[in-house]
Amino acid sequence: MTSPAARPDFPTFLPPGSASVQWCAACGAEWPERHAAPQCATCGGLLEARHAAPAHVDGTPLTGAALRASFAQHCCARPLGHPSGVWRFAEIVMPSVVVPAVSDNHARDTIVSWPEGNTALLQRRAISQYVGVDALWVKHEGMNPTGSFKDRGMTVGTTQAVRVGASAVACASTGNTSAALAAYAAQAGLPALVFVPTGQVALGKLTQTLAYGARTLLVRGDFDDCLRLVQDASRELGIYLLNSINPWRLEGQKTIVFELLQQLGWDAPDWIVLPAGNLGNTAAFGKALREAHALGLIDRVPRIASVQAAGAAPFAASFADGFRTRTRVQAETLATAIRIGDPASHDRAVDAITFSDGCVLSVSDEEILAAKRVIDAAGVGCEPASAASIAGARALVRDGRMRAGDRVVAVLTGHVLKDPGILVRMHQDAAFPSAPPNAPIEIDASVSAVAAVLADDARRRAMTAHD
Ligand SMILES: [Zn+2]
Repeated sequence: MTSPAARPDFPTFLPPGSASVQWCAACGAEWPERHAAPQCATCGGLLEARHAAPAHVDGTPLTGAALRASFAQHCCARPLGHPSGVWRFAEIVMPSVVVPAVSDNHARDTIVSWPEGNTALLQRRAISQYVGVDALWVKHEGMNPTGSFKDRGMTVGTTQAVRVGASAVACASTGNTSAALAAYAAQAGLPALVFVPTGQVALGKLTQTLAYGARTLLVRGDFDDCLRLVQDASRELGIYLLNSINPWRLEGQKTIVFELLQQLGWDAPDWIVLPAGNLGNTAAFGKALREAHALGLIDRVPRIASVQAAGAAPFAASFADGFRTRTRVQAETLATAIRIGDPASHDRAVDAITFSDGCVLSVSDEEILAAKRVIDAAGVGCEPASAASIAGARALVRDGRMRAGDRVVAVLTGHVLKDPGILVRMHQDAAFPSAPPNAPIEIDASVSAVAAVLADDARRRAMTAHD
């Protein structure tokens, strides 16, 4: 843990009463809160939302215990609560939006909320033992409405799309992002466009998106052509771009951290471990911790551990080099949600790791699958990329950076049903590198056959117990 200094180039919060701005980290330009372009119009840099410091109605700052009490009051209970784990933190996510109370039926459409968040913070002995840490909590973001953490960013991003008067929303993604985009756009009554290169995407990955009614455009070209087209279309057609660099999506993703801190009674853990691909979450977690510390919500800052798949580990390579260079790789891993060779949020993720005295590491696909087996068999389950956090925590314990007595939160980003294909391979294919499979067993229609299966199961459990 560290006692970090404030960032010199820009205050964490603006003076109470200020309007939020979108600030360009590259050139320092400020854009109004409802500026609809996804990047800085001057230099093309990434934008960050900056808000006024929370304040009482008389303008005095609202910090520490008073702010914690305010968040507790917003938590679900009538009459002031809202049943969203994102919007109860509205003061530090999107302060200018009016969040309707549970009891207010007339103001519901000021935000586009499923509702989302309020995901469980689990403890399971089998997972703790596997990692080698007693006080291990698993924050399961797969329990969000479309099955991944993306809903937290999309509720804020779609709310912003409505506020800027967008004609439609769009992204270039095949996975969890497009599913979340499609669901929230459906609720907002906005057309949703998903751009993917034709011939390069298995339609199975898009079923959830298709179900929610997004229009999927198979673009004749490669992924770069898609990105270029989606950006041109957003500029010329008034489509609001909800890709991973959208600053409002990051505001929503910050609430994973606020919520887990609140669930721990604002007694910060020693570590927060998360899977890392495009680095949007790493960046959002860093911003959340910086803000939580500045507001006195926590008095010490957990270390962020970002875990990449070994075949898609450009950020880990940059970290090993002291962040002197930005690395790009040809990404290959079965953890598709983090199969990213050139992470979009690299720069702000560097800030998150530096600020939190964190670290970046990589784990092999075999380690990811082994961790997934433990998570799945504990009855929790997750998509492959999520298991990188548990595999990473285990690796940190083994190399001595994480101690058995540390308090650790590991984030699972997606639901076990997000990737049924990998489950079929793990449990039907004996040659797949995650043996033993748990294949279905064909039996005669007799009670003795059932009894034989139970006896075999008891033998296996006894053997495992003696290991
Ligand atoms: Zn700029």
